[in-house]
Amino acid sequence: MNETVDQAAQDLGRLTQLLDDVESAMERIDQGTYGRCEACAQELDRHALTATPTLQYCTSCAQTRNDG
Ligand SMILES: [Zn+2]
Repeated sequence: MNETVDQAAQDLGRLTQLLDDVESAMERIDQGTYGRCEACAQELDRHALTATPTLQYCTSCAQTRNDG
């Protein structure tokens, strides 16, 4: 029973994060900045964007952020 509740809490946490990402992506669509890196404004790779529609950063900026 507790495991089920823990699992549900984890799933909800992931969904909440996903919802945040989607809302952020929709804001960028409104602002006309969707499809561009939020850090360097470079156009994002089409394939990466198709795989992850809520992508915020280009590969190099994502790498930098992970390092820092
Ligand atoms: Zn970038």
